[in-house]
Amino acid sequence: TSSIFAAVEMAPRDPILGLTESFNADTRPTKVNLGVGVYYDDNGKIPLLAAVKAAEKARLEAAPPRGYQPIEGPATYTQAVQNLLFGAGSDLIAAGRVVTAQGIGGTGALRIGADFLKRLNPGATVYISDPSWENHRALFEAAGFPVETYPYYDAATRGVDFAGMKAKLLSLPAGSVILLHACCHNPTGADLSDAQWEEVVAACREKGLVPFLDMAYQGFADGIDQDAVAVRLFSASGLQFFVSSSFSKSFSLYGERVGALSIVTASKEESSRVLSQVKRVIRTNYSNPQIHGAAIVATVLSSPELRAQWESELAGMRDRIRAMRTGLVEKLAAKGVAQDFSFVVKQRGMFSYTGLSADQVAVLQKDFGIYAVSTGRICLAALNAKNIDYVADGIAQVLKG
Ligand code: PLP
Repeated sequence: TSSIFAAVEMAPRDPILGLTESFNADTRPTKVNLGVGVYYDDNGKIPLLAAVKAAEKARLEAAPPRGYQPIEGPATYTQAVQNLLFGAGSDLIAAGRVVTAQGIGGTGALRIGADFLKRLNPGATVYISDPSWENHRALFEAAGFPVETYPYYDAATRGVDFAGMKAKLLSLPAGSVILLHACCHNPTGADLSDAQWEEVVAACREKGLVPFLDMAYQGFADGIDQDAVAVRLFSASGLQFFVSSSFSKSFSLYGERVGALSIVTASKEESSRVLSQVKRVIRTNYSNPQIHGAAIVATVLSSPELRAQWESELAGMRDRIRAMRTGLVEKLAAKGVAQDFSFVVKQRGMFSYTGLSADQVAVLQKDFGIYAVSTGRICLAALNAKNIDYVADGIAQVLKG
């Protein structure tokens, strides 16, 4: 008798996980994995932040019971999320115009938002940047939306093709969903300027678009409030919009899956109706969220001492990435690379689109055991004092052919 799974096809492999598998199998002691999307410290380890450790110790000692959480997560957590995103003195928060629900990481938050949007606006098309985090397309398609792109990265300037992006936004029908990286664009590292954000807000207003900001790296570019500029400009606009956010990177809590979906509505009364629908989406997916990560984040953000410690640890991660950016540029120049790599210092967040071709990336892997995504994306946070010279040397040799 034939199996009910006999016709199941093999799904395509996740390209980045595939890279990690090859890296793990590589026996060269000098190997370096720049393909990851995770912050490593200068010892090449994922840090456990001291603020997190302190909050975990206190929680363990308090031995709290493990009842179910509210469907949208505890208020201590959702309020802390709102203060970080919108600013503690936000008029929107005071007016009850922000709805926030805990999400299973930023990914889960995106998916709650996508499922709610599908009920709200079933005929819409979702537009993501070209290129974008690869899961954006898959996730919105899985929620039933057609997904298209708007121009974003300009390989010639290694910055944003803003004229192309704006022209596209202004050409879209009302109700189109526009997925925007709030800061630290993944994979390119190229962000909009404040003035360009203002033009995006104006375009969304003019065309009646539905903005959906994805904020996965708050605090990794310039600082917590500085990196929230897009959220703050949309907040000031009077428009309704979505924000998914994540503590995976900023708290180094990847596997705890801590994120949130926030929705800005037109009124407090509208908020209660929107929240009721968001809760319905959550209830039918996983009922209610897990406790631990959100409890830790809420504890850290509401304790002045732990919060100060977290902010300084976050600044430490941000500064180390910057030091790796300048270090890489300087070392490439010192090794006689003629090409100007100063754009690496201008790009923000964990990633850089280096401009290395797929062939050059393949040679880096084969000859040097330096692993990068075939698009030329590297993770600067995978560089450290011990490997940066080796990586610069490998890239320099590959560029010289
Ligand atoms: N959005 C972007 C742009 C990301 O880069 C990531 C993680 O890599 C996420 C969302 C999802 O983060 P999380 O691990 O919290 O689900």
